[in-house]
Amino acid sequence: MEFNLEYLVRQNIKNLAPYSTARHEFSGEASVMLDANENAIGSPVTLDINNQHELLNRYPDPVQTRLKQRISAIKGLPVENIFTGNGSDEAIDVLIRIFCEPGFDNIITLPPTYGMYSVAAAINNVKVKEVPLNTDFQMDIQAIADAVDEYTKIIFICSPNNPSGNSINRQDIEVILNNFDGIVVVDEAYINYARQKTLSLQLADHPNLVVLQTLSKAWGLAALRLGLAFASREIIRLMNHVKYPYNINIATQELALQGLQHVDQVNAWIRDCIEQRSWLEEELNRLSYTQKVYPSDANFLLVKMTGANEIFKYLQQNGIIVRNRSNVRGCEDCLRITVGTAAENAVLISTLKAYKK
Ligand SMILES: *Cc1c(COP(=O)(O)O)cnc(C)c1O
Repeated sequence: MEFNLEYLVRQNIKNLAPYSTARHEFSGEASVMLDANENAIGSPVTLDINNQHELLNRYPDPVQTRLKQRISAIKGLPVENIFTGNGSDEAIDVLIRIFCEPGFDNIITLPPTYGMYSVAAAINNVKVKEVPLNTDFQMDIQAIADAVDEYTKIIFICSPNNPSGNSINRQDIEVILNNFDGIVVVDEAYINYARQKTLSLQLADHPNLVVLQTLSKAWGLAALRLGLAFASREIIRLMNHVKYPYNINIATQELALQGLQHVDQVNAWIRDCIEQRSWLEEELNRLSYTQKVYPSDANFLLVKMTGANEIFKYLQQNGIIVRNRSNVRGCEDCLRITVGTAAENAVLISTLKAYKK
């Protein structure tokens, strides 16, 4: 079979008459706006950026055009290929709701991986088929092919993968893209730290590709909640129909626009983080109880340690919180450690050096 978007989309979504807001129907500049039942007088608080006090009484742009134009310039992608969501989590949920019929369809995830794919599926009553990554945290292509059935609509690939940190082999992702007739979501939340290039510039070759990125990690804007999805204009159109009409509030839109001006600052942070990651990797490898530091293309390290549970508790008692992944299949005895500031990393290492078994 060939990839056929019409065939993949749920019937109710195909039939959907999307909610049309007052601001969808009118996008020009007007001096009298009596169309949306807003408070015409003002707002009790304002959004203060660059010494401007922006009122909050009007609904924001439902399709975030200015923001997408800025993202388009940075990412080198047309606005029509960009979706912005309330975190990547919104994009994950919206994709499942577009393509997966509850109680019938399934998605494939590749554990150990990001937890939201299966949570979003469970909330939507969509079955999850798990095809574990191998011991190098790479895909088992044959096992994935065997797991696919006629109800499999989406395969979620996280690259660089959370919690293992490695990038998934590019050729393997391409094999999946070329052979699976459903949607392939490649979650690139950590792409800024990776040696591999983004897949977002390959959209023209792969009509079934959706790339996820986020402002939550390298961009340092986790609190704003802004996730990005890149896909064909047809898929983006569907995502815009299914999302909440005003999914990105004006504070997020304005602050993200400001934040996106600081590309040089962000790139400098990324270089620092990668340097700190190498330092941490070296220091962690020196500890007698470290069994393995997995190679990372992200801003964290997965570390296998003898007695990981005890070390986790010890760190916690010393005011240092890392992520205990010991109980995750494929991550036995592993802690996931985010690369912090140079000072935080130094505290972590000196604390670990003082650990007595
Ligand atoms: C952190 C993370 C995200 C980001 O999610 P947001 O909702 O955009 O904050 C997405 N995917 C993975 C794999 C992550 O680790």
